[in-house]
Amino acid sequence: MAGEKEIKEIYDNGMKILEELTSNAYEIQEQMLEEILIRNAGTEYLSRFFVHGQNHKQNFKANVPIVTYEDIKPYIDRIANGETSSILFADPITQFIQSTGTSEGKPKLIPMTAESFEKRMVKPLLVDLVMKKCISGLDQGKSFYLFFVKPEMETPSGLMASLYTTSYFKTQIFKNGLAKFCTSPIDTILCLDNKQSMYCQLLTGLLLRDEVVRIGSSFASVLARSIKFLEDYWKELCSNIRTGFLSDWIADPACRNAMSSILTRPEPELADLIQQICEDKSWEGIIKELWPEVKCISSIVTGSMSQYIPLLEFYGGGIPLVSPNCGSSEACFGINLEPLSKPFDVSYTILPNMAYFEFLPVNNDGGGKSREFKLRGASATESSESTNETTTVNKPVDLANVKIGRYYEVVVTTLAGLYRYRVGDVLKVTGFYNKSPQFQFVERQNVVLSIDLDKTTEVDLSKAITKAKLVLEPLGIMLTTYSSYADTSLTPGRYVLFWELKMKGSNDLPKLDAKIMEECCGIVEESFDFTYKSLRKGGVISALELRVVKHGTFDELMDFYVSKGASISQYKPPSCLKSEEAVKILNLGMVGTFFSPKTMF
Ligand code: AMP
Repeated sequence: MAGEKEIKEIYDNGMKILEELTSNAYEIQEQMLEEILIRNAGTEYLSRFFVHGQNHKQNFKANVPIVTYEDIKPYIDRIANGETSSILFADPITQFIQSTGTSEGKPKLIPMTAESFEKRMVKPLLVDLVMKKCISGLDQGKSFYLFFVKPEMETPSGLMASLYTTSYFKTQIFKNGLAKFCTSPIDTILCLDNKQSMYCQLLTGLLLRDEVVRIGSSFASVLARSIKFLEDYWKELCSNIRTGFLSDWIADPACRNAMSSILTRPEPELADLIQQICEDKSWEGIIKELWPEVKCISSIVTGSMSQYIPLLEFYGGGIPLVSPNCGSSEACFGINLEPLSKPFDVSYTILPNMAYFEFLPVNNDGGGKSREFKLRGASATESSESTNETTTVNKPVDLANVKIGRYYEVVVTTLAGLYRYRVGDVLKVTGFYNKSPQFQFVERQNVVLSIDLDKTTEVDLSKAITKAKLVLEPLGIMLTTYSSYADTSLTPGRYVLFWELKMKGSNDLPKLDAKIMEECCGIVEESFDFTYKSLRKGGVISALELRVVKHGTFDELMDFYVSKGASISQYKPPSCLKSEEAVKILNLGMVGTFFSPKTMF
């Protein structure tokens, strides 16, 4: 297992390593593919695709199909049920990583080997190094990161399945490396009760406020949730700081023990100061006030997380937002080499040693409607239907052949048994750093809403809502989170949007002007595509409905998903709800409902 020597090597030579990786990106990719094939061509999975004596690398793209999780699930299930992992990968699979993408309501299980796990642990160190190089003062204090874990699950084979971050937080490389620069004691991070964990981490962050130079979480949604928790608990936190005693409901022994060396004495002056800041009606810039030395907020704010940018900018009061990296349970894609770029301009640079990457071209706008790949056998690389709005989809290209300005879905071949696997994320290539492509994260390919022939993707929905909310901004109204569902309980069915709204500067519910809200509905519908509009015109889909919910309603939704097993640290509010219970929760917070004009189309 990597230890202090390796950490030191990365901190000493990390920038040189990055230069070498990106300058030799093509060669590294080719070597990686070759190595994976030499080791694994004989596995049950791969051997089917090669005729005896064939050159594996030359025939890889022609023979091996591009697959989705559902295609390889039978192999993964066999391994999870106790068959040898060599059916998929020559090296032993040592654990599974649970991905948030679901397969029939369950997390996907992504195989992982000791080697690939170790390789991946280098990424957070490189991210940290780049941030420290670009943001002065970051190495002179601590990071207040809100990190959480989720219980591991044992598969019938005895192999454990956990979130990548949960496994990572338990490693020596984390404990001896980044954790040393974090405010949160490791035992508060590893506490399985997310509420106790959150409370203790916030308490520590407040007690060590003068030392904190960076605040963050993996995804922006976690940070938004933490701020809401602070709103609910700041009085109790202040009381603990004033008295020097930890609340009794923090019952986890490891948390209590860890906190005993931080909450050591009454600090009434600190408590008064925090109270004074939190009592302010407006929490605008509260992060800067509570943590005056903070140089940046580090959290993923691209893709669906971009909905939290206004909120974090509001609470941050001008502190730069840094979106550090991009990846998935399957593979790390890239890191942000310009941490201070504006959230909407963030590009990530591919790390070519993390996986063998291929790129499936998709529509001009990254949307998924016209994509119909033939994914099997020799024609795996071929075409799609084109529609009125899109370009023809070509064969996948490798890293050396991506074009600036084009959109691609990522396909990975990994060091742990995934071969030409579609991750489902779409990227837009924006440039190159040395020989490595840089990209903006566009979105998951998922279709989220569907009635009749219409298929509205996450991208379509997010674009439509981005346009509509512009109407609210001049009125000082903030859209903090949204979701949706297709209501087909009546015929014709309709799409329903849930919006959580609040006034900028307070959590007050805005006065809802029916005309304006209806206008928002109209803009959303207008922004949907040709198929939607023609179905709506023909009466196959009825007028879109917008339900406004009060502040805090989406937190209840998160509690619901967490109670069902979602991880608080990887939680992303679903852009579309599939469960009736989830819809019910949002309906309970409803304060107004509005419809698009019936005769709009
Ligand atoms: P998981 O596999 O559960 O860790 O989820 C990974 C997914 O989170 C990716 O496939 C993306 O859809 C999303 N994601 C990861 N990094 C980013 C990023 N930088 N920006 C936007 N979405 C991201």
